[in-house]
Amino acid sequence: MKTIGLLGGMSPQSSIEYERMLNKGVHARLGGAASADLIIRSYNFAVIEKLQANDEWEAAGKLLASDAVALQRSGAKLILLCTNTMHVVAPAIEAALDIPFIHLADTTASAINSAGLSTVGLLGTRYTMEHEFYRGRLQEHGLEAITPDAADRTIVHDIIFNELTQGIINPDSKAQCLDIIKRLTARGAEGIIAGCTEIEHLVTSDDIDSPYFATAQLHAEAAIELALAD
Ligand code: GLU
Repeated sequence: MKTIGLLGGMSPQSSIEYERMLNKGVHARLGGAASADLIIRSYNFAVIEKLQANDEWEAAGKLLASDAVALQRSGAKLILLCTNTMHVVAPAIEAALDIPFIHLADTTASAINSAGLSTVGLLGTRYTMEHEFYRGRLQEHGLEAITPDAADRTIVHDIIFNELTQGIINPDSKAQCLDIIKRLTARGAEGIIAGCTEIEHLVTSDDIDSPYFATAQLHAEAAIELALAD
């Protein structure tokens, strides 16, 4: 089994779930005492949040790329960046590595393509919904992403930062997200991307009728495949 390097803590609510899903997935396949072989770099999320808010993407890219290289040096054979948002700086990380980097938007896109859908609603942070890096990457896979209107984007972004990244699960916020999902569906979304790794803690596939793409879960599954491949 290959060692998986995790860039986590963005937020810790999500990377702790990655760790759980990776361990559970490896155990399900190998049985016995088997669990995932992991090296984790978990950041103080306050530092990352500040870099995001100040648009310091170049500095963020340098930080994450140098830590990805440190994970590689420590023996990681593949790298996961455990957040959709910070994939803004995925090119800097990929350029610094000699080992595979599993891009979260690619694993999401391949699940959507396997489901035979072409237009999907995208929920995430303001950065993920409004910057080009995520929708553009989906487009490269032939997919169109519809985002909520400006007011709804603010609601989703605030729920992520004020609640979910701090481990707060609020039923009123869940109801608001479900209303936003209904509006995306009415605008033609055939499925919904939980394009923030904490959204799947609030809204699960049981809560909605349309196909639901839980990005962290798909990402963890892809990593298990690669870690256990010959
Ligand atoms: N984990 C989140 C994501 O998937 C948001 C936290 C962050 O800004 O990194 O985008």
